[in-house]
Amino acid sequence: MILILLGPPGAGKGTQAKLLASELRVPHISTGDMFRDHKARGTELGKTVDAIMASGGLVPDDVTNAMVKDRLARPDVGGGFILDGYPRTAAQAAYLDQLLVAMGRKLDRAVSYEIAQELLVDRMSGRRSCPKCGAVYHVTANPPRQAGTCDREGTPLVQRDDDKAETVARRLTEYEAKTAPLKRYYSEQGSLSEVPGTGTPDQVLATALRVLGRTR
Ligand code: AMP
Repeated sequence: MILILLGPPGAGKGTQAKLLASELRVPHISTGDMFRDHKARGTELGKTVDAIMASGGLVPDDVTNAMVKDRLARPDVGGGFILDGYPRTAAQAAYLDQLLVAMGRKLDRAVSYEIAQELLVDRMSGRRSCPKCGAVYHVTANPPRQAGTCDREGTPLVQRDDDKAETVARRLTEYEAKTAPLKRYYSEQGSLSEVPGTGTPDQVLATALRVLGRTR
């Protein structure tokens, strides 16, 4: 199954992408994670995107598209894949369409997680993650057993630089201006499904699986 996950930052896309990937047994491809990995490894790409990400802006389309093209050339995407955080602009959506045609593949669904604007800032500012295994928590909505420590690794949790208050507002503005219009694009293609992003991660997952015609 080939899925795109849409939704504003803080809607829970990353958490849902991990859950869906494990249910559907397909790779989870997060462009945000890929950029963070480049930053952590200090690659040329990582250096290029560092300041853009820290400001809450979007990495240029050509850079992002090239990275996704490389990723989709790997053999593990044969059984399908979940794109989390891509496409984020009309140009990226058009590029992906063309890439899928070239690959002889077809998008199954664009799932859009719907959540009230007021909740997003709290979701992002309370988000903490494990630098070792990538597990994501929330200080109140999904806390680890011991405050500030990863359940699995015992590692101190960290806050993403771009989840800090200064950056959150810009990320939301970028989403509204450039990414939200993609809902219309996929709706016109007949491939959009909207899923409420509120409730526990498991409830949201159950709704998405139902919408996708999958049962557990
Ligand atoms: P995310 O983890 O999806 O919230 O992405 C974190 C940051 O990475 C974003 O705020 C952007 O700076 C950058 N980024 C991730 N995906 C894309 C994309 N598809 N296009 C442009 N920039 C992106």
